[in-house]
Amino acid sequence: MTELQRVAEDVWAWVRPGRGWGWSNAGVVGGRGQALLVDTLYDLRLTRQLLTAAVKVLDGRPITDAVNTHANGDHCFGNELLGADVRIHAARETVPGMHEAPPHYMAAILKADLGPVLTPYMQKAFGPFAFEEITLREPDSLFDGSHTLDIGGRTVHLHDLGPAHTEADTVVHVPDAGVLFTGDLLFVESTPIMWAGPSRTWIAACDRMIAMDPEVVVPGHGPVTGQDGILAMRGYLEHAFEHAKAAHARGESIEEAGLGFDTGPYAGWENPERIVITMHALYREIDPAQPVVDPVTIFQRMAEWDRRRNPVSAAGA
Ligand SMILES: [Zn+2]
Repeated sequence: MTELQRVAEDVWAWVRPGRGWGWSNAGVVGGRGQALLVDTLYDLRLTRQLLTAAVKVLDGRPITDAVNTHANGDHCFGNELLGADVRIHAARETVPGMHEAPPHYMAAILKADLGPVLTPYMQKAFGPFAFEEITLREPDSLFDGSHTLDIGGRTVHLHDLGPAHTEADTVVHVPDAGVLFTGDLLFVESTPIMWAGPSRTWIAACDRMIAMDPEVVVPGHGPVTGQDGILAMRGYLEHAFEHAKAAHARGESIEEAGLGFDTGPYAGWENPERIVITMHALYREIDPAQPVVDPVTIFQRMAEWDRRRNPVSAAGA
């Protein structure tokens, strides 16, 4: 079972080894007499494990505050397990996105027949999680831009650096410990997903994270890293954008642009098929007149990419 690993004085990271969709990281920041939780997990069983581990390290201090770094379910579906008096903070633009793929929608997707390519992909990716029992609890303390918390005498900064991965992407900076929780602005050893874009905002977000000069960087997915992890993400985004620009100029369709993508120095990253989602956002960035494609079609194209290009699928390994 995953445990909380101490990454600095009174700061812990919940880190899942990267393998597929939905296995997100989280964090705990302790202060005098109280504590902050960074993200809940994708279902209630996982979030209970996280909260049990938090009780052990916090030594009687209650979690009084939590942050949802962004709208994806693997960072907020466990919210209902927090006490009613726990303040849940999030960027204002995070809330609408929480309703795009809510728990009952994910449960229905897993029951649906989506055809011979997409059905097994979705089962592998999302089958390990129990969505049916979840009631989505929204954050109740919303901010625009930046917000500073006092967690028992400890200063914690929240900065929304999006839109990038989603419409709003909050990072949690604990300056006295040199720790930065990045949410899904950072994937380590696995392929990022650009749902929203544009890439230029995400690249600027990488520069802003570097400017915070963190010593310990806890990504949304994958192992704990340092500033080199942020630089690798920046490199992938530039590489993907350059490819999209060239493919678009050659008149290639989004599918062609995705299938022709050379992962280059990022070939070892898991779930390379996610470039298909990112390519849709990049084409919109390059040509805002691109028609909007519905999410099931995008997932279908991604599953096709996985079947054709990915000899050993990591969809849910
Ligand atoms: Zn995530």
